[in-house]
Amino acid sequence: MILCCGDPEGSTCIDIITRCVCIGVPWAFKSTLKVLFGDKGTEVVDSWMHYLLYKNNPSIQIFYLFIVVGGYFAFVTFGYPYMPGPLISGAHKWGGLVAFAVCLFTFAIASLKDPGIVHRANEKACVSQFPYDGVIFVEGKKCPTCDTLKPARSKHCSMCDVCVVRFDHHCVWIGNCVGEGNHRWFIYFLLTHAFLCVYGSLVGVLILLGQIIERQLFQAVYVDAVTGERFSASYSIVFQYMLANNAILMFVTLLCIIMSAVLVAFTAYHLFLVAANVTTNETFKYRNERRRLELSGERPDQIQNIYDKGVWENFRECFAPQELFRNYHLVAEEKRPTQRGKLKGS
Ligand SMILES: [Zn+2]
Ligand SMILES: [Zn+2]
Repeated sequence: MILCCGDPEGSTCIDIITRCVCIGVPWAFKSTLKVLFGDKGTEVVDSWMHYLLYKNNPSIQIFYLFIVVGGYFAFVTFGYPYMPGPLISGAHKWGGLVAFAVCLFTFAIASLKDPGIVHRANEKACVSQFPYDGVIFVEGKKCPTCDTLKPARSKHCSMCDVCVVRFDHHCVWIGNCVGEGNHRWFIYFLLTHAFLCVYGSLVGVLILLGQIIERQLFQAVYVDAVTGERFSASYSIVFQYMLANNAILMFVTLLCIIMSAVLVAFTAYHLFLVAANVTTNETFKYRNERRRLELSGERPDQIQNIYDKGVWENFRECFAPQELFRNYHLVAEEKRPTQRGKLKGS
């Protein structure tokens, strides 16, 4: 509510809460630190916040591992003992393990793979890969930070401090940019996690329904332990009984159902972008350009996506990158030892 509706300068109830949470609490926290530790205390907190919010760091990856590994082990501990059950076979124990392992595999590759970093050794090859459309990508520009030419469709990532070829976005979940080098692995990452959540939802629901059938919960009579009062089954009483006995499994299943909706929608959106050969970064650039044309009284529909080669070729470009890109891996390998050398030297 605060993020979507709050205005720190407004006067509604939500605005006042926004002011308290976003301005008041940090101010009080920093003032306390200043009193306790002087300027040094606030400087340390500022540098931590800068690192956590504006630099590439593993905090969200650790959170991801906590959720996925924790969720899987919750299933193993509280769901697997009921398999095989009346509605589900024991083979899904192995199915769950395979789905979980494949998710960790796609996460690891998408996180570790070079997204297509532009540097001196490959800048010319990168520039020759896509033509400049002269609208959202203009020829001859240099990145002031990397001091390399800016290839069409590339962008400088301020989190990682590198320019990336065919830059899509910086993904905090994989702690890496999504670019030409790992775009397909990012899509595999989304597909496998969407599948894991849908599969987890189905398995969880079938285990829980199986428990209701096996224990004949709708035919049972329920006794209040305190008053001794007897109740016949209803949806509400069966739900309360299940919640009391299977709370963690129900929570993990609910998490899977919510995340299924989010991930299926997000995966479909990214597949749509791949089919249209537009990166997330380009969607913002096209939108800004359209707005600029509208404001200057020109027709915005004159903007053409010159990189769109038809759905089949667009998918091929993402899932089977051209030979040039396979070399990036080698170039990146060449670059890494010098970086390590520098680190060792320092
Ligand atoms: Zn750059
Ligand atoms: Zn990045």
